[in-house]
Amino acid sequence: MAKARRRLAFLLIICLCLGVLYHFTSRDCFRSTLLPTGRVQHVIIISIDALREQDLELLAQLPNIGSLVERGVSAPARCVYPSNTYPSHAAIATGVPPRVHGIVDNMMPQPGKHPFPDWYWWASALKVPAIWAHVKAAGFTTAAILWPVTAGASIDYLVPEIRANDRGESLLLLAMKYGTPILVLRLVLSYGLQVALGRKPSLDDFATYGAATIFRRYRPHLLMLHLNETDFARHRYGPEAPEVVVSLHQQDRRVGEIMKAATAAGIAEKTLFVITGDHGTLSTRYVLNLNAAFKQAGLLTTDAEGHIESWRAYALHSGGTSEVYLSDPKDGDLKKQVSALLAEIASNPNNGVIEVKTGEEAAKQYGASPEPSFYVILSPGWAAGKSLDAPMLETVKGTMGSHGYLPGTPGYRTAFIMCGPGVRPGLRLGEIRLTDEAPTIAYLLGIPMSGVEGRVLEEALVDDISDRSSLSPSR
Ligand SMILES: [Zn+2]
Repeated sequence: MAKARRRLAFLLIICLCLGVLYHFTSRDCFRSTLLPTGRVQHVIIISIDALREQDLELLAQLPNIGSLVERGVSAPARCVYPSNTYPSHAAIATGVPPRVHGIVDNMMPQPGKHPFPDWYWWASALKVPAIWAHVKAAGFTTAAILWPVTAGASIDYLVPEIRANDRGESLLLLAMKYGTPILVLRLVLSYGLQVALGRKPSLDDFATYGAATIFRRYRPHLLMLHLNETDFARHRYGPEAPEVVVSLHQQDRRVGEIMKAATAAGIAEKTLFVITGDHGTLSTRYVLNLNAAFKQAGLLTTDAEGHIESWRAYALHSGGTSEVYLSDPKDGDLKKQVSALLAEIASNPNNGVIEVKTGEEAAKQYGASPEPSFYVILSPGWAAGKSLDAPMLETVKGTMGSHGYLPGTPGYRTAFIMCGPGVRPGLRLGEIRLTDEAPTIAYLLGIPMSGVEGRVLEEALVDDISDRSSLSPSR
């Protein structure tokens, strides 16, 4: 009994401490008194992972996203290469392709790292400043919820996307370490209470709850939110499965919650809403396990548990792309040996290889990072696999979707919607690029963003631009 009382007292003290900490740290300590000089004062960017161009038709009929389509512009958007989540989100945020921003793919080359390699979670991997750095440098406040490549970023209100990947690591502590600690704790506790009261736990619902809370309370000038459910549904059930349609309805509900938060904050009229995808998704029939071929050729060995023990060549599996790394990229003989093996694999049309490019070639032709020694580029229908022992080529059981393919692949574009002050109503644009998004948003905020390769989407804006010369990106 005494023990139970002590435990209760301890819990009460913890709650009291958290309350005091929250009280003194969650005030408007970051809120800027300045106002952006552009046509919008606040921007909310919502990324719906794996949103496809083909989804625009359905989205236009949904109550919340449909109203943004009706009152704003929409467009198909060309992906970057490799068309995977992390290089794509980095391109959206920086206005440059992977060749410049430095995020090679989702995963880092860490052969043997168990259970999986680290992803490019940390913002320190970016080689150029992202839009949040430009907005902050101009004196305005920033927020990001589960946006890729933000861990440790200088963002005022940050819940980073990161995963526990080492024995004993705590996801909560990691998110606090690389995000805004008290904010993370507060959101987890308050959302946890909602779950305890009957709300269904969902990562996207948590992210939406966090974004709406931050926007209502702190009114940041830039808020970036990343939603995952549609990507999950497309990978698991296929690009056009009924579960995908359900997920799009859910995303519309979440967008509605964020719109309501902007209205409750009294700044909806001054806010630019951007809905963006990052890549398309295509059906997969076959899986190509390059590491199984490397193992057979003696370029990679495994231990008794089947994990990588030593390697001279190693392939990262990334859907329609596989990056090949060499233990010594300067070893000419090794490079020749691996190049010959990859050419032999590519020569068999059953393996689904479109082409093999060196890192430099892929950088020049497709804007990829030159870091890997080779890129093995796969046809739609094929995806790279991670098995070390299975046959090199496997047939997929059931339905599965993949991305990572070349940006020009038919039916593979993603989508873009933008609505707010200064944006033309009801206009369907031609193809835009992911790299056009950051310069356009920064322009509408009145913040110059130099060094980008994308352009300001002039055709999307109402024609009262006083200084048209500022539309051209400076390089
Ligand atoms: Zn994605």
